Amino acid sequence: MSNSDHTPSSNFLQQIISEDVAAGHNDGQVRTRFPPEPNGYLHIGHAKSICLNFGLAKQFGGVCNLRFDDTNPEKEEQEYIDAIKRDVRWLGFEWDGEVKFASSYFDQFHAWALHLIREGVAYVCDLSAEEASEYRGWATKPGKESPYRNRGVDENLDLFERMRKGEFDEGTCVLRAKIDMTSPNMNMRDPILYRIRKENHHQTGDKWCIYPSYDFAHGQEDAIEGVTHSICTLEFQDHRPLYEWFLEHLPVPNTPRQYEFARLNLNYTVTSKRKLKRLVDENVVDGWSDPRLPTISGMRRRGYSSAALRNFCEMVGTSRAGGVVDMGMLEFAIREDLNENAPRAMCVLHPLRVVVTNFAEGVVEHMSAPIHPSRVELGERKLPFTRELYIDRADFSEDTTLSRKKFKRLVAGEYVRLRSAYVVRADEVIRGDDGEISELRVSLVPGTVGESPPEGIRPRGVIHWVSATHSKPAKVRLYNRLFNHEAPDNDDDDLMMHFNKKSLVTLDNCWVEPSVAEAESEAVFQFEREGYFCIDNVESSKDDLVINKTIGLKDTRERKGGM
Ligand code: ATP
Ligand code: MG
Repeated sequence: MSNSDHTPSSNFLQQIISEDVAAGHNDGQVRTRFPPEPNGYLHIGHAKSICLNFGLAKQFGGVCNLRFDDTNPEKEEQEYIDAIKRDVRWLGFEWDGEVKFASSYFDQFHAWALHLIREGVAYVCDLSAEEASEYRGWATKPGKESPYRNRGVDENLDLFERMRKGEFDEGTCVLRAKIDMTSPNMNMRDPILYRIRKENHHQTGDKWCIYPSYDFAHGQEDAIEGVTHSICTLEFQDHRPLYEWFLEHLPVPNTPRQYEFARLNLNYTVTSKRKLKRLVDENVVDGWSDPRLPTISGMRRRGYSSAALRNFCEMVGTSRAGGVVDMGMLEFAIREDLNENAPRAMCVLHPLRVVVTNFAEGVVEHMSAPIHPSRVELGERKLPFTRELYIDRADFSEDTTLSRKKFKRLVAGEYVRLRSAYVVRADEVIRGDDGEISELRVSLVPGTVGESPPEGIRPRGVIHWVSATHSKPAKVRLYNRLFNHEAPDNDDDDLMMHFNKKSLVTLDNCWVEPSVAEAESEAVFQFEREGYFCIDNVESSKDDLVINKTIGLKDTRERKGGM
């Protein structure tokens, strides 16, 4: 098996499955599963797992299950179940049949636990958690057998039944498999099968007060569902012998095989539901779908397309060698997609009022501009040109000593082209009481729409603009990295120490051309010279536009800090 094969066309899992199919294993059928625990929203790491599991099934003419691994009632919620289903579908995948729940197999797991007790390979153990941990030993020190290990079958059946009935308090006893306390693999040292948890479960209500462990549930869930290839991340590699032990010792209808690949990690962010939940619970972000988060719903709200995320997951490849992927790679995939697909528009983020003194008041001239520069088939949009306009404050300077090379914008007394419209000259600056420039008076050069200016008139560059009377106001949110540290959760520091307090900047007074105000929720645009932006899918309405910055035009993080 190849460890270092990063070519998307043939990762080691594709090789294994294609060999299995060729050899006629499982009658040549392939069934995978994506098994999230509903204890938070899915993130970019899950997107990788989804693309892999659904992608492999599709490639080999098989199917993929969506199964909620809901064996831990404490941290799970219906909200998460709904969000996970929405996210998987949005990513472009459809699961086979109904959504599955591990909890719907609880009766079967219970029957299988009884089976192991009757076979003499499971026992009720009364050691306290501290004692049990001491008895387990550690990697280099073999464990000791529990004094309860040799209880008879009848006593175990009786105790387990009393556990089920709720006769014992949480923590007083557990059901364990009888395997090998001296195994070099800690997972094989009489692992826990059932714990007492007096919790209401979101699917089974108060039917159970004992819950199976992850290890006792996972492989059996796969077996019940007829999963052929159970793909998980590397931290489960040491659990594989246990996964196989259960399948061997239980009368399961089918024998899945487990394969592991390396988790996807991204720098400057966290990919752990538990850590993301902390950001949400401590209100430093606006819920699980905050556009700064690497959650699938956050990235969607940010304006990333599902196609770009699928491409990214393909680009990073699938291997057994872990590592941290640079955020720049995700951004590359996002930009590549948007450059090709985002319609162009103009938006002024920091407005400066401009009066075109030689253009009559009340008149509207409709300029046309391509929706996309290289995709003419998308057609053109109309830009209303009026006497009063807005340009960005940063596009005007009174400093006439600025070189033409450095400052390709408007300078007092000089010319600039307004994109898809006239060449104008900056004639006069008007100041408010505070001394700030409040207005700029310009004059247009007639006949310059779509035409070069007459000889002797040399515009410094091209800037964007909107009509002050025919554009729409918008609130625009700019984002920066969520954390100031490359590995916010990878050292001894508290995660929150590295939270970037400047990760959100809101501009309340922006102006967009009319085509943007007409767009649907989640539509993404390239605002010329500014970057990619999308219509917020939670707060925006036609009368109250809220726009999120998706990403800048170029990778300028090193120089400008990501805005
Ligand atoms: P988290 O630590 O964020 O809770 P998890 O692995 O506990 O992650 P699950 O809900 O158990 O989350 O994950 C469902 C599936 O997604 C599992 O098969 C898991 O291996 C996979 N997965 C989770 N995180 C990643 C990741 N960063 N890269 C690849 N696959 C992942
Ligand atoms: Mg988990």
